Amino acid sequence: MNIKTRFAPSPTGYLHIGSIRTALYSWLFARHNKGTFTLRIEDTDTERSQTESVKTIIDSLNWLNIDWDEGPYYQTKRLNLYNDVIDSMLKIGSAYKCICSRERLESLRKLQIIKGEKPRYDGYCRTKFNLPHNIPHVIRFCNPQKGHVTFDDQIRGKITFDNEELDDLIIRRTDGYPTYNFCVAIDDWNMGITHVIRGEDHINNTPRQINILKAIGANIPNYAHVSMIFGPDGKKISKRHGALSILQYKHEGYLPEAILNYLLRLGWSHNDKEIFTISEMINLFTLNKASKSPSIFNINKLKWINHHYINVLPTKYIANHLSKHINVNSELQIEKIVEIFSKGCKTLQEMANSCRYCYEDIQEFNTDYAIKYLNFSNYKLLEYIRNKLLSICDWNAENINKIILNTSKELKVNINNVYMSLRVAITGCNCSPAINKIIELIGLNKTISRIEKALMFIKTSKLSK
Ligand code: GLU
Repeated sequence: MNIKTRFAPSPTGYLHIGSIRTALYSWLFARHNKGTFTLRIEDTDTERSQTESVKTIIDSLNWLNIDWDEGPYYQTKRLNLYNDVIDSMLKIGSAYKCICSRERLESLRKLQIIKGEKPRYDGYCRTKFNLPHNIPHVIRFCNPQKGHVTFDDQIRGKITFDNEELDDLIIRRTDGYPTYNFCVAIDDWNMGITHVIRGEDHINNTPRQINILKAIGANIPNYAHVSMIFGPDGKKISKRHGALSILQYKHEGYLPEAILNYLLRLGWSHNDKEIFTISEMINLFTLNKASKSPSIFNINKLKWINHHYINVLPTKYIANHLSKHINVNSELQIEKIVEIFSKGCKTLQEMANSCRYCYEDIQEFNTDYAIKYLNFSNYKLLEYIRNKLLSICDWNAENINKIILNTSKELKVNINNVYMSLRVAITGCNCSPAINKIIELIGLNKTISRIEKALMFIKTSKLSK
């Protein structure tokens, strides 16, 4: 069997991590089985669908390198197909016109509630043939009234629904637009989808779609419903707890590899392995290892994985991603920044903020630690280092470090004091990666002018005392 899966987002907002995880599982399942992965945009809800959102879906998948073999198909461009199927269903009697007014449906609903029954359409128009053509109407599906629908969910096992629970679903609205469950079923059949992998929130739609497929004599695909993602508070994930647009994670400096690895593990496992390359994901992915229970989103774990990838992927590659977060032209400089800063940073945004002093002028020395280290007792020390640095022949981190060590010896100053005074003078911060490497990176001119600025600060603060 040629496996075919699909990702079928509705373009009604941004793509969040839950949707991306579904896309990832469908994609991995197709790739693992050397099958086909299809992208289908479910845009028949014309009031809620937005062009901007389609762009976001495509940009997000492209950024994550989740590539599709077919599509994007747009349901709004497939109306002829849906109408043809509806026509033949009307002919064979598996669908019917319904002219029930809103008022009738409302009073039916109220009556059912009073009687303690579940509100559902009572099939009033099922047997009304030869209805006038010009009356506004919807088309309803003739759902079987007896028996049950059972499917073997690839993640959750056997699931059964009584047909009595399901009413005659509207498959085409008065405005002529086919409805959601109908289009999904028809497309899954028409596109030859063998495995429908989607969120658990679609379980209730599955028996309706299966009944429609049975009515048109179509094959029933396999279904796999992926469990929900909860926030750390155990509730449905909210924006505050990570349900952001996936592009927001890009903006915050997460790598595609980290997002995919994190989402793979969030609801799927392979022994206790945590880190998966893309080819390992493809080789190892099977649906029976997906979890039945909800997963809890944990931003710290995502950061941990991101830190891992920042440190193991090639410097050039990380530099390329980092270049979108900082305003530095030289490729070489960015690679150096990655080499120096990657150990201490969990995101690229964090790296961009931490290394800002390498390419932007530092602010005034007005912090407690600046006052502690840039004082008169360190004036001579900084002056000494400045002069030594000015006489370096070969500008590299090793030679710079030699000068720092010699200064400590020559002037009999504690080495930590030398490092800290220099660090504060050069970076304006009390914490940074190895200061000799920073000095090498920013170069002689910048280093000297920052030391001069620190000396000036010491002088003027002494005068003002
Ligand atoms: N369009 C649906 C959604 O965005 C998905 C439908 C499906 O996967 O069957 O939730």
